[in-house]
Amino acid sequence: MREFDITIVGLGPAGGTLSNLLAMHGFSILILDREKSFYPLPRAVHFDDEIMRVFQTIGITKDFLKYTIINKGTKFVNSREKVILDWPRPKKITDNGWYPSYRFHQPDLEKQLRKKLKKYKKVFIKQNSEVKKITNSKNHVDIVYTNTRNHKEYYVRSKYLVGCDGANSLIDNFFIIFY
Ligand SMILES: Cc1cc2nc3c(=O)[nH]c(=O)nc-3n(C[C@H](O)[C@H](O)[C@H](O)COP(=O)(O)OP(=O)(O)OC[C@H]3O[C@@H](n4cnc5c(N)ncnc54)[C@H](O)[C@@H]3O)c2cc1C
Repeated sequence: MREFDITIVGLGPAGGTLSNLLAMHGFSILILDREKSFYPLPRAVHFDDEIMRVFQTIGITKDFLKYTIINKGTKFVNSREKVILDWPRPKKITDNGWYPSYRFHQPDLEKQLRKKLKKYKKVFIKQNSEVKKITNSKNHVDIVYTNTRNHKEYYVRSKYLVGCDGANSLIDNFFIIFY
């Protein structure tokens, strides 16, 4: 059975960002995602200067910046187009060194995160891999996942596992309370 330092379940923006941050420190990382690629439609549309700072640490800002728009604000309207919240964002660099609000197209971000991950020799991305079961022990986590194409079952072990598997997280169901 192969062993990794960390297994990350889910390669959306959260999994992609965390994997990059951990890979920078030399950990061996297995990333499992059940889809065959990233989701091609936009969902998240905005992030702020703190998040840009994280992207700066990862080293994707140079390429990613050209896919962003500095956001001067957002108006939230109801079904009759009446403004219910006006949220202006000053176009002024903050103490974090970036603008307070950026708009983006989520697939562009996911592409940049994956491109950067490919540079790390100890990062292994497995698409079409759906995590089915995790068993927590004192010193490691055992993981069972299936290949969504041929339905074959695989077993891996890692020191840590992080759930980045979105709103309907499976990992949530394995929450453990330490006494
Ligand atoms: C219609 C729609 C509109 C949205 N609009 C906005 C918006 O305007 N602003 C905003 O901030 N957010 C929006 N969201 C939420 C948006 O999806 C999240 O902000 C963002 O995608 C969350 O990133 P994430 O990495 O946490 O999870 P996700 O992007 O959901 O990624 C989770 C990943 O985990 C994988 N996964 C799940 N279960 C397993 C498993 N058992 N085994 C292996 N892999 C697994 C999935 O395949 C997926 O790739 C919207 C969502 C939807 C559906």
